[in-house]
Amino acid sequence: MRLRLPKTKELEGKTFDTVIIGGGPAGFSAAIYTSRFLMSSLVIAENVGGQLTLTDKVDDYPGTLEVPAADLVRNFKKHAEMFGTRVHWGDRVETFKRLEDGRYEILTRRGLKLYGRTVIVAIGSKRRKLGVPGEREFAGRGVSYCSVCDAPFFAGKEAVVVVGGGDAAFEGALMLSGYVKKVYLVHRRKQFRAKPFYVEKVLTLPNVEILVDTVVEEIRGEKTVNEVVVKNKITGEKKALKVDGVFIEIGFEPDIEWARKNGLNTDERGYIVVDEWMRTNLPGVFAAGDCTTMWLGFRQVVTAAAMGAVAAYSAFNYLAEHGG
Ligand code: NAP
Repeated sequence: MRLRLPKTKELEGKTFDTVIIGGGPAGFSAAIYTSRFLMSSLVIAENVGGQLTLTDKVDDYPGTLEVPAADLVRNFKKHAEMFGTRVHWGDRVETFKRLEDGRYEILTRRGLKLYGRTVIVAIGSKRRKLGVPGEREFAGRGVSYCSVCDAPFFAGKEAVVVVGGGDAAFEGALMLSGYVKKVYLVHRRKQFRAKPFYVEKVLTLPNVEILVDTVVEEIRGEKTVNEVVVKNKITGEKKALKVDGVFIEIGFEPDIEWARKNGLNTDERGYIVVDEWMRTNLPGVFAAGDCTTMWLGFRQVVTAAAMGAVAAYSAFNYLAEHGG
């Protein structure tokens, strides 16, 4: 079934006190606060939920105990809308630029032009690629970047590889172990970034084998993936694992081109540089969440939401100082 995208005509040419780019926890948290500050607020998002759509359950967001990620996303959106935020999804901001009157002109991929007195950038980050032969060729034909989304497609298969040593890789291995006969978790060193809770759980699973100090060298197949070549970095030993799929769960990286195209200062990796009030180098433009330099080593729903709230407060203060 094709989803019907919401109509955009009525937004054309409109000016909002703030336009929030991105619909993850940072963006919606910002929207909840800007709306509470009685700022007219528009969220523009390609899809609602950001990276929360790539996870199964969330059990560390204060006050929600354990909650399906999809429910949390729905509630973030509902909460922002309850206070008056408009959500325009299924679209993407391509460019924004400052006009002489201080507003920002915003152009979207679907051809919409509108204006923000302030802008909050909460675009998250993109999935990191391994960059090995076969990865691009077999993308969607055995190579996946989201275990939680794609695990059910591998039900009854013989074996898969999960690459990575963070929460996503361990959560993925945990989930896949219920669908697939054998799961290899391949990690490039001995220490894991994943929460001990996940590591301990995975270690108890008889059908998960963890290969440490090991890297993927090549992904092979015919129509779909059937083999992954791995190499032990210490011994130099290579093995060809017979598998039906590879789940690459090695984190995220920022959209450096988008940020730079729009005049935002980034660090050398492409994260948008912000100060403690989430101010960017552009007047009236704030940034929040995974796309920023703030709290780089600790990407959580709660930290993204916190950044969104601070960005909203700064946008409110900016309008109070500069007029709205
Ligand atoms: P992450 O925490 O950044 O971990 C990425 C893992 O991939 C690391 O183990 C890293 O190895 C490895 N890696 C990175 N580049 C690599 C490369 N080129 N080749 C091989 N391995 C590579 O990313 P994530 O696991 O996707 O998680 C992202 C964020 O989402 C984290 O904040 C995480 O806590 C959160 N998350 C939470 C949950 C949950 O709580 N339910 C679930 C999923 C994600 P090194 O360790 O050697 O750097």
